[in-house]
Amino acid sequence: MAETCNLRGEVLSLLHSHPDLALDRFKGLIERSIKRAGLLKSFPTPARQYNFTTAVIGQSEAAMRSAQTLGLLGMEVFLFGGPAKPLADQPDYPNVHGFVGSSAKSLKGTVGDFRIVVDMEGGFQQVFQAGAVILGERARRTIAYMPHPDMPPHEFSYSMQTRDVKGIPFFVPGATSIPGLILASPPGVNLSERIKGTTAAILAASVMPRGPRQNKGYTVSIDAGLCRGCGRCANICPYRAISFHRNSLGYGYAVVDEALCKGCGNCISICPSNAADSPFRDQFFLEQIIEEVLA
Ligand code: SF4
Ligand code: SF4
Repeated sequence: MAETCNLRGEVLSLLHSHPDLALDRFKGLIERSIKRAGLLKSFPTPARQYNFTTAVIGQSEAAMRSAQTLGLLGMEVFLFGGPAKPLADQPDYPNVHGFVGSSAKSLKGTVGDFRIVVDMEGGFQQVFQAGAVILGERARRTIAYMPHPDMPPHEFSYSMQTRDVKGIPFFVPGATSIPGLILASPPGVNLSERIKGTTAAILAASVMPRGPRQNKGYTVSIDAGLCRGCGRCANICPYRAISFHRNSLGYGYAVVDEALCKGCGNCISICPSNAADSPFRDQFFLEQIIEEVLA
């Protein structure tokens, strides 16, 4: 967990009129905060497998630039053709494996764990895993994103945040509503294809974890016993952090991926059965705090 210490009211207001008193209070606050921090428990580390390969789909200048940049950074890259145009050549870039004649048809998953269905030269189909996916412009328009095996293809969204327009959470050019799914050539961005491709490569490199990810302390968990599987939370989650599992009776229940959840609380506010809540600051925790304050 985390410890915070608010200096403004206690210290900063005294800085000019009583500097010695401000210093004493500052020391006291910091000492007490450090003491309390020593009692905190560490957050658990969610178990999560990550694949460290990046799949680049498409042969546009931006897509090829992305593959080349990642390869030069020492990262492993799989290069595929898009749905409409199989990959023509194996480029001579380090760490980039181009599957000549391949044509990616659909993909599913999120950052760290994408599955890409590819039609291979020779007429057979193969599924590849990747931790991040970069889509060329034509591939963006034609490839199917399958959120779940039982659901129809889904259109992922991408957008730059615009002043005074609400509801656009993706402010990095090239980022999409699917974490780890990146556009090589985001529309509406006035830069050269080479710069866009390089930027996409940097985005892909940055989503790869450098160590085990810890719970951030504000992620949400879902009580499977209370969840009625209505799907409202999955529909509203802007970060695609919610997927569905089946219980022993075959009914679906929602599960939050802690590595993707940003703690925005949308799912908590929309859940009709109080199944979604914070495991660290749930209703019981808040009631306890209020009781202590009122006691
Ligand atoms: S909104 Fe609540 S009840 Fe519905 S699927 Fe999500 S967690 Fe379950
Ligand atoms: S808190 Fe926000 S990001 Fe996390 S699962 Fe709920 S809706 Fe998604």
